[in-house]
Amino acid sequence: MRFTEEHQLFRESLRRFVDEEINPHVDAWEEAESFPAHEVIAKMGDLNFLGVNYPEAFGGLGLDFSYNLVRAEELGRVHCAGVPMAITVHTDMCTPALAEHGSDELRQSFLEPSIRGRMLGAIAVTEPDAGSDVANLRTRAESDGDGYVISGTKTFITNGTQADWVCALVRTSTGTGYDGMSLVIVPTDAPGFSVSKKFKKMGNHSSDTAELSFDRVRVPKWHRIGPEGRGFQLQMQQFQKERLIGAVVAYAAAERMVGLTARYLKQRHTFGKPLIARQWIQFKMAELATEIEMLRQMCHHCAEKLVAGEDMTREASMAKLKAGHLARTVADVCLQFHGGYGYMEEYPIARYYRDARLLPIGAGADEVMLGIIAKLEGLVPEGR
Ligand SMILES: Cc1cc2nc3c(=O)[nH]c(=O)nc-3n(C[C@H](O)[C@H](O)[C@H](O)COP(=O)(O)OP(=O)(O)OC[C@H]3O[C@@H](n4cnc5c(N)ncnc54)[C@H](O)[C@@H]3O)c2cc1C
Repeated sequence: MRFTEEHQLFRESLRRFVDEEINPHVDAWEEAESFPAHEVIAKMGDLNFLGVNYPEAFGGLGLDFSYNLVRAEELGRVHCAGVPMAITVHTDMCTPALAEHGSDELRQSFLEPSIRGRMLGAIAVTEPDAGSDVANLRTRAESDGDGYVISGTKTFITNGTQADWVCALVRTSTGTGYDGMSLVIVPTDAPGFSVSKKFKKMGNHSSDTAELSFDRVRVPKWHRIGPEGRGFQLQMQQFQKERLIGAVVAYAAAERMVGLTARYLKQRHTFGKPLIARQWIQFKMAELATEIEMLRQMCHHCAEKLVAGEDMTREASMAKLKAGHLARTVADVCLQFHGGYGYMEEYPIARYYRDARLLPIGAGADEVMLGIIAKLEGLVPEGR
C-alpha cells in the first residue's frame, strides 16, 4: 500500500484526536463500563472522520477504503479495545451495506446523520440461538401492508444501549436456512423496541454490549436495504469489511503492546542486567514484531484488493484468523515479560490481555474463518 501526503495528513489529524480526545479519558470510561459514544462521534463527524469512503452526496468524503485502513490503524492506538470497537462498528460494520445498497431516502435518513456524527448505529445479527450459525436466526419481520412487524431477540450487540438505529438481519419469509433474510434499519425509538439487558464483560469494558428485544416493532418497508430476501448475501459482504477492520485494529494494538513492553524491558533489571539484554527476550520480541508486520502487509493487500474492486473474502478471512491468534499471543508474551506487574491493573498490559480474548470469537469465530478458508481452498468434499 502506497500512502500519499493526503493519507499522512489524515493520519496525523486522527492521531491528534486519539491523543487529545480519547486516550486521556480511557481509564475513566473503562471504569464506568461505558463511554459517551454520541459525544465522541459528534466530534469525529465535525472533523470529517466518519464517512471517509462514503458518497459526498450523503456527507462523506468520497475517498477510497485505504483511508478506512488508516483510520483503523490510528484507532488501534487507543489505550483499550472497547472504544475502537464501538467506533468501527459505526464506521465499518453497520454502515457499508446501507451506503452501497440503501435507497437514497434511507441513506438520507440514516447514513447522512451517522456520517455527521449525529446518530449512532449498531449491527444486529447474533441471536441467543444463532451466532456462528447465522442461517439459524429466527427474528421475523412479518409483511403488513407497507411495513414489517418485527419480533425476536438479538444479543451481544455492540453500541446496543446507545445506538439510534440498528441494522438488523431478520427473516422476511417463512423459509429456513440462508434464504429469505433481509437487512432492515430499525430506529431504536420505535415502539416495541427495548434494551432487555446490558452485559458485564471480561474485557472491552468501555464498549456497551446489549441484548435487544423486538416486540412487534413496526418499520416501513423502505427501511429495507436492497432487495427483499438478499439480506444474508449483503451481510456476508458487509462482514468482509468488519473482519478486515477488526484485524487492522488488532495489529495496531499489538504494535503498541510490543512498544510499551520493550520500554519496560529496558528499565527492568534482573540478575544485574536489564531484561532486554537477554537474547531469549530479544528474539521473542523480534518474532512478535515479524508476525505483526506480516499481518499488516496482509491487511494492506486486502485493502488494495478492495480498492481495486476485487473479492478479498479469502484473504480477509485469513487476516481475521491470524489477527485473532496474534492478538492473544502478543498479549500473553508481553504480560509474561512484565512479570507480576503485568498482572496488576495499573499496568496497561493487563487490559490488553483481557481485551485480546474477544477477536478469536467476535465477527466470526476462528472456526468459522477456518470453515470459509477450507471451502475456498477446495478442502471440503462436495455436498458437505
Ligand atoms: C463483546 C462482543 C461484542 C459483539 N458484538 C456484536 C455485534 O455488534 N453484533 C452482532 O451481531 N454480534 C456481536 N457479537 C456476537 C459475536 O459475533 C458472536 O459471539 C460470534 O459470532 C460467535 O457466536 P456465538 O457466541 O453464538 O457462539 P457459537 O456459535 O455458539 O459458537 C461457540 C463456539 O463454538 C465453536 N464453533 C462454532 N461453530 C463451529 C463449527 N462449525 N465448527 C467448529 N467449531 C465451531 C467456536 O469456537 C465458537 O466460539 C459480539 C460478541 C461479543 C462477545
